[in-house]
Amino acid sequence: MAEKSATTAPQRTSSRKQVRPVVEHEDGSTSRTPTRGGRPLLDFRGPRVSQPPQHLADMSMDERVAAVKEMGLPGFRAKQLSTHYFVHCTTDPERMTDLPKDRRGELVERFFPPLLTEVHRLRTGNGDTIKFLWRLFDGSLVESVLMRYRNRITLCVSSQCGCGMNCPFCATGQQGLTRNMSAAEIVEQVVRANQVIAAGELAPTAGTDENMLGEVAAEVGDESGEADASPADASAVAGPAPAPVGAERVTNIVFMGMGEPLANYKRVMNAVRRFTEPQPAGLGMSARRITISTVGLVPGINKLAMEDIPVTFALSLHAPDDGLRNEMIPVNTRWNADEAIDAAYAYFERTGRRVSIEYALIKDMNDHAWRAALLAKKLNARGRGWVHVNPIPLNPTPGSVWTASEPEVAGEFVRVLRDAGVPTTIRDTRGKDIDGACGQLATSVAETE
Ligand code: SF4
Repeated sequence: MAEKSATTAPQRTSSRKQVRPVVEHEDGSTSRTPTRGGRPLLDFRGPRVSQPPQHLADMSMDERVAAVKEMGLPGFRAKQLSTHYFVHCTTDPERMTDLPKDRRGELVERFFPPLLTEVHRLRTGNGDTIKFLWRLFDGSLVESVLMRYRNRITLCVSSQCGCGMNCPFCATGQQGLTRNMSAAEIVEQVVRANQVIAAGELAPTAGTDENMLGEVAAEVGDESGEADASPADASAVAGPAPAPVGAERVTNIVFMGMGEPLANYKRVMNAVRRFTEPQPAGLGMSARRITISTVGLVPGINKLAMEDIPVTFALSLHAPDDGLRNEMIPVNTRWNADEAIDAAYAYFERTGRRVSIEYALIKDMNDHAWRAALLAKKLNARGRGWVHVNPIPLNPTPGSVWTASEPEVAGEFVRVLRDAGVPTTIRDTRGKDIDGACGQLATSVAETE
């Protein structure tokens, strides 16, 4: 547990200026984080709106068997349908030749209602990163980003339509929360990405990504800073890779798209079960290759630690001091930085899985060396070897208060953490040229409609 001394106000030895968080509006005006009665607006539930029709990926295998029996068919049809979806990644009745021809249309209608309609697809110049914009059954827009690295293919998925956490630096946060996504809507993002990969539309990676310090960047999904293995020995570090079906597939999933995954806990965990269940019940992925990232919903972190699925856990901290974090991450007023770090440490203690601290480096706002020292002090107060810090330079927006740290400032931030014995790697930022930050594309499309 944290030493109380670690939570006292830091000594601000730097004379560098302090930029405060603001919300920047379309017309160029700015305001402080919106509040209600002096408290930040937080929305944990969203409006009561309907969910999409039930899909095969919402159901356990037992539920699928019961559903096919209700249609007067034998239970083994559930396994055949699951194989089509999770192994062959298809919902095309023409390809389901092992099912009775006169029932195929009916089965597809019952188990595979359309969930995601592709609205836009943006690719980076070298084609190793693709951003998708999907329209859901009720018109909501969500994004996912597919990234090829040397030894992995990572998909960043959305878990909510919008977000109720209201972080002022985040385009999604400014939309508010429309609704939680269903488990199947989350899973379908991965299945659709697998189809794109199988079609050869994700280019080979151009080579080693370097971060702004000229080092090999940590990759999204490399949460604990553990070096991934080469394809030949991937199973040595992360369990068996999903069985190939004649094509590459998504190997890593990160819940870092739109939404706060722990605010949609039940459906997110149902989706994680579909990711990790052996084929054909699910996609057969290793839980260690699935990263759940949160801004610090402590009860959700505690619940996650008790699950029997050892996913990788990441805490988006972004500031070690409550004064700044209250403004950057409004949920900090509910569970403060020390409580969030304590919960992250408890996750490590319970699971033995090293956790990651995500830290968006924002110029003159949170990138001061004294904050790196305070962060190191707070982490080391809990113990050593349990955590890895991933600073992420914010996507630069010249003229905005939300702009990336200068490379030398970022370098100093990293040096202070490393000198204090905290493993730290600056993360690669993919997709700068394709509205890379979460929610930017959905916002710009929604505004033009
Ligand atoms: S940063 Fe994450 S938690 Fe905060 S508003 Fe954006 S999507 Fe929600």
